[in-house]
Amino acid sequence: MVYKITNGELNENCYILSNGDNCVVIDPGYAYEQIIEYTKRNNIKILAVLLTHGHFDHSKSGYKLQKLGIPIYIHKDDADKLYTDNNLSNLIGAHFDYYHANILIEEGKLCIGEFCFDVIHTPGHSKGSVSYIYKDNIFCGDTLFKNGYGRYDFYDGNYYDLMKSVKKLLKYKKEGYKFFYGH
Ligand SMILES: [Zn+2]
Ligand SMILES: [Zn+2]
Repeated sequence: MVYKITNGELNENCYILSNGDNCVVIDPGYAYEQIIEYTKRNNIKILAVLLTHGHFDHSKSGYKLQKLGIPIYIHKDDADKLYTDNNLSNLIGAHFDYYHANILIEEGKLCIGEFCFDVIHTPGHSKGSVSYIYKDNIFCGDTLFKNGYGRYDFYDGNYYDLMKSVKKLLKYKKEGYKFFYGH
C-alpha cells in the first residue's frame, strides 16, 4: 500500500510504499517525524529512501534517516544536490544538512528486498530526475503533475528534456498506471 504525507511549506508529497513488515520511503521531504511515527505505529521497517531528485523539499529528511542506518538512493546526476547549494534550499533560505547518498543509480531495474522497481531517467526538471515504477504505480517527482509539468528554469533544468520525459510518462498514463506526484 501507499501512504502519503504532504509536508513542508511547498506541500511536498512523501510516499511510504509498504508490503507487510517492510517499506521504502520515496522523497521524505520534511516529514521525518511523521515517517518515524507511522512506521513505528505500524511496526514497519524502512529498507531504503529513494529520491526522485535532489531538491531540498524532497531530500531534506534524508540526512536524519541516513543517521538511523537507512541507505539513500539517488540518480548519479543529482547526487551533488545533497551536499551543495544545488538543492536550492538557499532560494527560500531553508536550513539543509548536507549528506552523501549511499547508492547512485541510473536507469534500469532496481530491487530492494522484495521491492523491484523500473527506474526511468526523466530529466528536465533537474538533470538527475527519475521516476520509479512499482507494479502499476509511478512515482514521478516533479516531472509531471496532475495538471501540468514541473519547472525547467532551474540551473540544470531543460525544457526539451522535460518534454521528452513528460511524453515518456504520458505513455504510461494511457496504459492506466497510477501516478504519485511530487506535489
Ligand atoms: Zn524539484
Ligand atoms: Zn518539489
